[in-house]
Amino acid sequence: MVATDLATSARAIAFSKDVAGWYATVGVHPHDCGGFDATTVQALRDLAENASVRAIGETGLDFYREHQPPALQEQAFRAHCRLAGELDLPIVIHQRESLDAVERVLREELGSAGGVMHSFTGPPESVGRFVDLGLHISISGIVTFKRADELRETAAAVPVDRLLIETDAPYLAPTPMRGRRNEPAYLPHTAAVVAAVRNVSVSSLCATTTQNARELFRCAPLS
Ligand SMILES: [Zn+2]
Repeated sequence: MVATDLATSARAIAFSKDVAGWYATVGVHPHDCGGFDATTVQALRDLAENASVRAIGETGLDFYREHQPPALQEQAFRAHCRLAGELDLPIVIHQRESLDAVERVLREELGSAGGVMHSFTGPPESVGRFVDLGLHISISGIVTFKRADELRETAAAVPVDRLLIETDAPYLAPTPMRGRRNEPAYLPHTAAVVAAVRNVSVSSLCATTTQNARELFRCAPLS
């Protein structure tokens, strides 16, 4: 369960404690980083002590909505990267109209536990830049949208050991559920499109992406 501020970080931890097989992230989304400072970092550090926490995020840069000034977003993003490095946790990275700036920060700050470019929408030729940094690339329901030909090419270009799929629920419900509140139950629609463009079976795609996610987030083996 992915957090977007201190309150949802605490909720994600509480939920993951009660539900087997669920894990939490802690982080402050670039939309919500107003007032982000050293106190926020310490609060995240304290929350991250919980055993269910497997990543730092969402963090990143969003220059499309720009709910917060770019300089503040970058300051918060750098702080998340450093905390992830300190705690040896991967990071969950949000990017929108900000790929170059995200890459620049990651080249300076990314820790050894790597992370994931979540709901990645970059062009196919941008995949290598982030894979070379050691990151995973996660494809959301956008890949099923009619006009998303370029993203389908991107989904086909991700190396097999770095590919993830995700819901980004409650957002980005895949076709034919588009416009509804997204649910994990809709993920097979995304899996079907990604499998088709990669010319693999859905079961093979799901086995691969599940394994990749469990390794990245160091989840216990499935029993
Ligand atoms: Zn996001």
